[in-house]
Amino acid sequence: MSRVYNFSAGPSMLPEEVLKKAQAEMVEYGSAGMSVMEMSHRSKDYEEIINGCEALVRELMNVPDNYKVLFLQGGASSQFAMIPMNLGNKNKKCDIVITGQWAKKAAAEAKRYITVNEIASSADKTFSYIPKLDKSKFSKDADYFYICMNNTIYGTKFNELPDTGDIPLVADISSNVMSEVMDVSKFGMLFAGAQKNLGPAGVTLCIIREDLIGNAMDITPTMFNYQIHADNGSMYNTPPTYAIYIMKLVLEWIKEKGGIAAIQKINEEKAKILYDFLDSSKMFKGTVVKEDRSIMNVPFVTGNEELDAKFVKAAKEAGFVNLKGHRTVGGMRASIYNAMPVEGVAALVEFMKKFEAENA
Ligand SMILES: *Cc1c(COP(=O)(O)O)cnc(C)c1O
Repeated sequence: MSRVYNFSAGPSMLPEEVLKKAQAEMVEYGSAGMSVMEMSHRSKDYEEIINGCEALVRELMNVPDNYKVLFLQGGASSQFAMIPMNLGNKNKKCDIVITGQWAKKAAAEAKRYITVNEIASSADKTFSYIPKLDKSKFSKDADYFYICMNNTIYGTKFNELPDTGDIPLVADISSNVMSEVMDVSKFGMLFAGAQKNLGPAGVTLCIIREDLIGNAMDITPTMFNYQIHADNGSMYNTPPTYAIYIMKLVLEWIKEKGGIAAIQKINEEKAKILYDFLDSSKMFKGTVVKEDRSIMNVPFVTGNEELDAKFVKAAKEAGFVNLKGHRTVGGMRASIYNAMPVEGVAALVEFMKKFEAENA
């Protein structure tokens, strides 16, 4: 058996070093005499794990002291309801940019509780670009301004953040968290499901400015109230203990690589290898306008559905798996998250060149 190059959009590949470390510690963690899964979340051993994980998030992302770091459950999708319930209780209004399915889902959920003002949308061209924003459309009295920063399905990214002035900017960074240096202080809140770039499914990282906590709607379920989780150090109830443990190992791996700035360089190198090829190929074409390209999710097509299917099948046989594009876009998508090594992308491009030569 050998490990394949896994281009899955999520859950996605984890660094092999992390899996090996977890394997080595699986049955007995340190001197605990048990696995992390079997420990009380109130034990000293586990406290060190969750506190260590939070400290690494703060260190790697340079999180200012007036932000809380929370480990929540229910996936990124639960945030689509938690955000309006907790942040939208002043003027009951938010602004949002529709850049794909995840933004659409966030908007639909927010509409159940507050007024949602859609500032712009790129639905007209299958979300293949980030719309230019007209600041005169921004609501002066919005409680927050919402974006999905990296659009996992369509492969676009806000390479420039909207200037929202005093209105807190809230961003879904599920698929680009810790892939590049971000200035947390520019945001009111950031959140990310772990299963793309941070660890296994089951834990959602939330980074939220303290002044945005404590004004939840009365209807907010206890488990959906940021204040409850902030006051209890993400331990109001049993947190997803094992997922947080793996996240901590992933963060240690990032730190060992030199931190997020170093990871960003590698990610840019990987993306360049793939985009340079797509820009020069006669068979394969990227689907996103150049200035809005994501360095994490790279959709591409041949323009011929049969050929796409043939490519996906041949690639799988050669050990490059999960390259089939999302059903709404078709074609292919290579997700090249932090754990994908440069060699994986270079090998994929070599394979694409060979396929192109053989199928021209
Ligand atoms: C995967 C993803 C989600 C959904 O995450 P879940 O944890 O499955 O709810 C939301 N937003 C983005 C940008 C994603 O990539």
